[in-house]
Amino acid sequence: MSKKQLKKPLIIAGSLLLLMSCAGTSFAAYSHDLYPNYWQQGRSSVTYSVQSTFDSTTKTQMQTAMSQWNNALPSGSFLYKSASDTNDSTPSQNNINTITKYPYGADGFTGEHVPYLNSAGKVIESDIRINSSHNWSNSPKPNYRDIQSTMTHEFGHSLRVGHSPIYEDTMFGEGSLNTDYKRTLTTADREAAQASVSRWITNSLRTNDDESSKSDLSDKVVVHSEAEVIQFDKNQLVNEADVIVSGTVIFQEVKKDFEGFPVTDTTIRVQTVYKGEPGETVTIRVKGGETDNMIYTLNKEASPTFKIGEEAIVFLTGNKGSRPDKDDFGYYLVGQAQGKFDSGIQSQSQGVAKNSTDTHSLDLNNIQNEINLIEKYNKLNNIPKLYLPEGQESNI
Ligand SMILES: [Zn+2]
Repeated sequence: MSKKQLKKPLIIAGSLLLLMSCAGTSFAAYSHDLYPNYWQQGRSSVTYSVQSTFDSTTKTQMQTAMSQWNNALPSGSFLYKSASDTNDSTPSQNNINTITKYPYGADGFTGEHVPYLNSAGKVIESDIRINSSHNWSNSPKPNYRDIQSTMTHEFGHSLRVGHSPIYEDTMFGEGSLNTDYKRTLTTADREAAQASVSRWITNSLRTNDDESSKSDLSDKVVVHSEAEVIQFDKNQLVNEADVIVSGTVIFQEVKKDFEGFPVTDTTIRVQTVYKGEPGETVTIRVKGGETDNMIYTLNKEASPTFKIGEEAIVFLTGNKGSRPDKDDFGYYLVGQAQGKFDSGIQSQSQGVAKNSTDTHSLDLNNIQNEINLIEKYNKLNNIPKLYLPEGQESNI
């Protein structure tokens, strides 16, 4: 075949592609991720049982949050609140979709969507947990997080919509204080939800679609979770920290926490202490890991990783709420990935340590001085803590 004969079909194919991509832009003007792990084919609703001890205003706000998404779906309502409450206070795979609250301490989390996957990678159950150690409110308030905003965000995950990089969207990954803008959806949020839900409720899926994503996960419970982490400014990062140290990672161990979820405990040999009075080592607990019966992963902002031999500066809090396993480990990272700064060889040569979310940096030649100045400022201005002390719980 000569080159001339080939030319025409190529142009047609090219213009077809152009048409298709134009159509794609006009119908999908959202920049959200849509999870590959969506509900099993044909699933038409998810009903949540709410922990009985939630305040009645909060329960009503949960329903309002659900209707935001339901109203966006041409296929009709997908999210429902059960008429009967649950006495559960922690998530577990039990064929009941629960919304629970527990005082986990100052771990940086506000809410977390916990979807359970089957061996084909499809969602079969969805739990949502709220950290009641955080300062919560039913309306915007300085230094408080609006519960209805968080619930609206988490229900987006229930529809298997992921995060958007656009701050204005309800599905923007990080939470802000003293605002309720995430209670209402943007056009982009709505379009992302429509595109997501149509993936499993229409019959356009091939019958073997569920099988095609099958992976070899044995019989383990699999959870790919998304957690909302509050954005800290540098002053808050210092203010929330009981301990700030630099050091080297010497040991790591995956354990089960009191709820049966895998957690990774990392031990750091302390080199320099900038704040607090830690021992020669500190042990930091981060959610996620693999145990004999469960695989648990979270978004990277909520689950920073360490490597043996790695050098880091870490901002740590010893506020572990009311969890019964609090003596099993030493600290949480303040704001999770936000509280971990890389101080390895490359950072040393540049004189600057950046944190894992790339939102803050420290001048390696001036850390102690900077922390002292921030501490002074925080004291003078009475900067409040964002988490309630151990033994206290928000009454949302
Ligand atoms: Zn989220």
